[in-house]
Amino acid sequence: MSDDLTWHPGTVEPRRRHEVTGGPGATIWLTGLSGSGKSTIAHRAEELLIEDGRAAYTLDGDNVRHGLNADLGFSAADRTENVRRVGEVARLMADAGVVVLVALISPYAADRDAVRAAHAAAGLDFSVVYVATSLEVSEARDPKGLYRKARAGEITGFTGIDDPYQAPSAPELVLDAEHDDVDTLAGRVVDLVVSG
Ligand code: ADP
Repeated sequence: MSDDLTWHPGTVEPRRRHEVTGGPGATIWLTGLSGSGKSTIAHRAEELLIEDGRAAYTLDGDNVRHGLNADLGFSAADRTENVRRVGEVARLMADAGVVVLVALISPYAADRDAVRAAHAAAGLDFSVVYVATSLEVSEARDPKGLYRKARAGEITGFTGIDDPYQAPSAPELVLDAEHDDVDTLAGRVVDLVVSG
């Protein structure tokens, strides 16, 4: 980073900003296997929060790869950069007063820890939600046919098949996405925001 850069502090009081956004911002980071239910749960939680008068927005891993991260693939370095960029966007949005629901496989613990540290440094609330399913259940759902392609060798480096998934060791919330329905799980995510 250049020595010639200086930080220009904002002049709007956080409390005044939160009157506009319905409350303080936060990042809720949903991690789990492909097909575990991250996007579905995040979008439902977003609806519930919006209905409750909160500024809320889902940053969906697949969607972000269409634009911001269109230049990234699925190598370990690119996955790390993918998480870093989404983490930075989430941090800015949370600072703006938005409850950001991130739905991203984010398979590596160190990458998630770096995003947590960046939020902590900025004094922003950050929670990891582990959307837990077995590989068998995620693979059976396979809504995009990606596991089938990975098994057939048409995709390589697929999380859970030939690339690791490191489950979080100390998530703020674990969702049983094998057995509980989407509304129940989204409600638990919202509770995390309200109680947090
Ligand atoms: P991810 O974002 O983790 O890749 P998706 O949200 O796309 O996963 O969900 C994968 C599939 O599983 C979808 O077809 C969705 O309808 C279904 N699904 C999601 N959550 C649940 C749940 N709790 N119980 C049953 N099916 C679910």
